[in-house]
Amino acid sequence: MYRIDLLPAEYGDAIWLEYGQGRRINRLLIDCGTAAVYPRIRERILALPEGQRHFELLLVTHVDLDHIGGALALLRDSASLGVSFGEIWFNGYMHLSPGGVVPAAADDTLGPLQGEELSDLIVAHGRQCWNAVVRGGALLVPEEGPLPQLSLPGGMRLTLLSPYQEQLDALRPAWEAACRKAGIVPGVATADDASRLEEDDAAPEDDDLLGDPDPEQLAARPYKADRARPNGSSIALLAEYGGRRALLTGDAFAEVLLASLARLPGNGGGRLAVDACKLSHHGSRGNTSSELVRALHCRDWLVSSNGKQFRHPDGEAIARVLRDGGGDVRLHFNYRSEFNEMWSSSALQRRHRYTASYPASDAGGIRLDLSRRRLR
Ligand SMILES: [Zn+2]
Repeated sequence: MYRIDLLPAEYGDAIWLEYGQGRRINRLLIDCGTAAVYPRIRERILALPEGQRHFELLLVTHVDLDHIGGALALLRDSASLGVSFGEIWFNGYMHLSPGGVVPAAADDTLGPLQGEELSDLIVAHGRQCWNAVVRGGALLVPEEGPLPQLSLPGGMRLTLLSPYQEQLDALRPAWEAACRKAGIVPGVATADDASRLEEDDAAPEDDDLLGDPDPEQLAARPYKADRARPNGSSIALLAEYGGRRALLTGDAFAEVLLASLARLPGNGGGRLAVDACKLSHHGSRGNTSSELVRALHCRDWLVSSNGKQFRHPDGEAIARVLRDGGGDVRLHFNYRSEFNEMWSSSALQRRHRYTASYPASDAGGIRLDLSRRRLR
């Protein structure tokens, strides 16, 4: 069994991933949406039998509010929930400098910029589980040599695709501002602060939301790469289990993902077969290039956003998937919103040979069961 739930995480990500055989189920939680999303995650955890509230991994991909907000609440609440984590992966301030590691002893101070709440909470949870797989160091892709591969209990293999040191270097001077924006500096939480550091999505063009969109025209618009430094620092993974692969991108840069995919063993420059790909940065036009789509052979594309704040997904990103994805694409949206419902048009689906699925209820959330999908 290998399934991915895109929980309703407002305009962010909260990915609940399960894999295993028979009754043995292993779990991963990747990001937790904004703080407002936490009650849904809490409810889901409380629905698990008490002895099973364990995650092999909690991964917080990067410092933006729509990924980290719910994680702060979860870690504050973890004792009362009886939830445990085998590992917690998050690149903190100390990881942005080459060679930086989690201090080994309790009397080492985290430093003036390092006392941010998430770092404190992870340490309180047990510093030994923080980036434990790399002995407390940074989760990053080296410039040369094989991509880091990390195994989790139960047979899940994760290959790291982002970030590189370059993206961590870029974030270092902006870290404090990024944390403040994300509300993770205690005392200055700004959960309703819609502005984000260097959110450089240009104001959306005045798309006509009425009538069917024109994928050819949308896909032909010029591509302008995302440069937001927190997004670039996202941890992105290829998650493989039982012969199935999912590309979990956080808000990573398309160019970084492409560079790493090209380095995968056995990837001879053709399309890399993956069973599912979560569109980076909620389907923002700056994070899904035609080149990236053409580097993959993938039918199932996941989009996590309710469209609030940043009007994601952008039509350009969806259109690139339809035009360059090789046909017979299936889109999976974890909300129905005014920014994605145009893709439900059956005429459009026939013409461009794709399907689009939406949540059964207004509450949102969608599941993709990779072990039950037809082979790619
Ligand atoms: Zn995001």
